[in-house]
Amino acid sequence: MKAQTHRTDILILGSGGAGLLAALHAKQIAPDVTVTVVVKGLMGKCGCTRMVQGGYNVALAPGDSLERHFMDTIVGGKWLPRQDLAWRLCEGAIERIAELENEIGCFFDRNHDGTLHQKAFAGQSFDRTVHKGDLTGIEIINRLMEQVWASDVARLEEHRAIELIPARDGSGIAGVLLIDMRSGEYRLVQAKAVLLATGGGPTMYLYHTPSGDKTCDGLAMALRAGLNLRDMEMVQFHPTGLLAGPDTRMTGTVLEEGLRGLGGWLVNGAGERFMHKYDPAGERATRDVVSRAIDTEMRAGHTTPMGGVYIQMDHLGPEMVAARFPGMVKRCADSGFDLAGGRVEVVPTAHYMMGGVEFEIDGSTAIPGLYAAGEDCGGVHGANRLGGNGVANSTVYGGIAGESMARWAAERSTWSDCDHTVVEAAIARAEYPFGLAPGDLGALREKLWRTMWDDVGVVRSKRALQRGLASLGEHAAELRAVGLADGDRAFNLTWHDWLNLESLIETSRVIATAALAREDSRGAHFRDDFPDAGDLNTSRYVRVSMTGEQLHLDTVPVDFSIVSPGHSLIDGDAGAPTSVSGGPTQ
Ligand SMILES: Cc1cc2nc3c(=O)[nH]c(=O)nc-3n(C[C@H](O)[C@H](O)[C@H](O)COP(=O)(O)OP(=O)(O)OC[C@H]3O[C@@H](n4cnc5c(N)ncnc54)[C@H](O)[C@@H]3O)c2cc1C
Repeated sequence: MKAQTHRTDILILGSGGAGLLAALHAKQIAPDVTVTVVVKGLMGKCGCTRMVQGGYNVALAPGDSLERHFMDTIVGGKWLPRQDLAWRLCEGAIERIAELENEIGCFFDRNHDGTLHQKAFAGQSFDRTVHKGDLTGIEIINRLMEQVWASDVARLEEHRAIELIPARDGSGIAGVLLIDMRSGEYRLVQAKAVLLATGGGPTMYLYHTPSGDKTCDGLAMALRAGLNLRDMEMVQFHPTGLLAGPDTRMTGTVLEEGLRGLGGWLVNGAGERFMHKYDPAGERATRDVVSRAIDTEMRAGHTTPMGGVYIQMDHLGPEMVAARFPGMVKRCADSGFDLAGGRVEVVPTAHYMMGGVEFEIDGSTAIPGLYAAGEDCGGVHGANRLGGNGVANSTVYGGIAGESMARWAAERSTWSDCDHTVVEAAIARAEYPFGLAPGDLGALREKLWRTMWDDVGVVRSKRALQRGLASLGEHAAELRAVGLADGDRAFNLTWHDWLNLESLIETSRVIATAALAREDSRGAHFRDDFPDAGDLNTSRYVRVSMTGEQLHLDTVPVDFSIVSPGHSLIDGDAGAPTSVSGGPTQ
């Protein structure tokens, strides 16, 4: 099967905060370079940037500082973040929020004196989260989209990237192989620079928050291309995902943290308010602590009819709850629950992957011409992402990568030749299921969800992780035996489900392998056979790479290039962040 060929100077995979900022910044730096954005769904209608509720962290207010934001990020990340990347994030957020307001046209909520309103988020020593009500992402992505529409950035919507194609002479990236999902045809796009911004997304768990188009395709492509992934064991669970039954996509969606912050209770199936058994802060403990407590109650069988626990708000006064959380109350009502006056079933839900591709501060990766930004990247957040640092990460590093790519592309007059053996192998892999008898992909997806939830989930152990890895091997073999009933490739969503599962199983294997290698408990990663954090001064991060089907593991010392454990950049805080268990999270 042949691929149609195209050319662009810069090719951007993904149209979230990272992809769109990259496109706009590339055009600012080098207006004559051609830029093309490829997206699996429709631009602005898919990915997680649109789903951002709470807001955007930036140190703006008097009394707050870059150093404070940085220290919160490092302590929250349990001393595993790469410090120069975390610093650049905090510094870049100040420039980027001004750009989003003044150049891109975002309206954020303001105080009476005209300054930006900044709200409190867990794990932060200052109120620094800029927001637009509780729908901040829609404001950001809609305004970004308008700017991209107004520019001469080309778009390939409903196009799925399936392989990063190296140059025939081995000098770096030469392009990307895509499937035009509308026609089912292959397209090979040659590019001088490529951005990986497909946004990770832990949708391999039974309960998850990200949009369904995110299936770790970028991470799977990066692995096959030989890049290192780091911190992949670090999957963040949000404690209160709505549990609305198996037949609705509302199950797993987030009921926001403010409910617990305001004084909401968590109650198990036996009617017992249980959080104070686990942490003196009760329901106001951090996300990882609350998720583990709920998981423990669930495993002990103290569950609600659908298998979770309840969140209860009525003791605060139904009218006040309805006034403070209209969106949450409506979301619950749509699923048949009364949040303001009754109890709602909730469950921890996989929310964010801190791990991803190892990248440099200018967005570059180990493959010349290939850049990465946003949730596809590892290293910025370490063991935990602070709420509000996710969209800051994607927009800050997206913009930086766009500028780097523009410079790179502007210096190159020609395109590299693609390695056609890689193109042909990728087409053969995508075509593989068409030759086989059809099977039940839905049942296989549910097995994957169960394996990751039960064995690689909130609380981990050597036995469970080994069992999980064995099951993942079986799921991979089962996928290889499942074919597609319909040979028509145009809008063949079953085919894309097959490809989604391939990426998810591959990435799940990496998560489980990294989790088995980390024999301590930090942030989002908790081992009940190794419950201690270990010595912070000798912290190491886990790196995974792949050749053929074989995964390779390495652990690498963390470089405390700016501040080391036991120290702080904040006057008067010196020595404060000495213990992982005592530090705040997200
Ligand atoms: C419910 C929810 C609430 C959140 N709230 C907050 C918050 O309040 N504050 C905060 O900081 N963070 C929040 N986050 C996290 C935040 O959304 C992410 O950190 C950030 O938006 C990621 O941006 P991104 O550009 O890397 O990826 P995304 O915005 O997810 O974009 C990824 C893009 O890649 C595309 N894509 C995927 N695979 C392919 C492929 N194979 N080929 C082509 N395109 C592909 C997708 O379609 C999408 O367009 C939240 C996340 C969720 C799910």
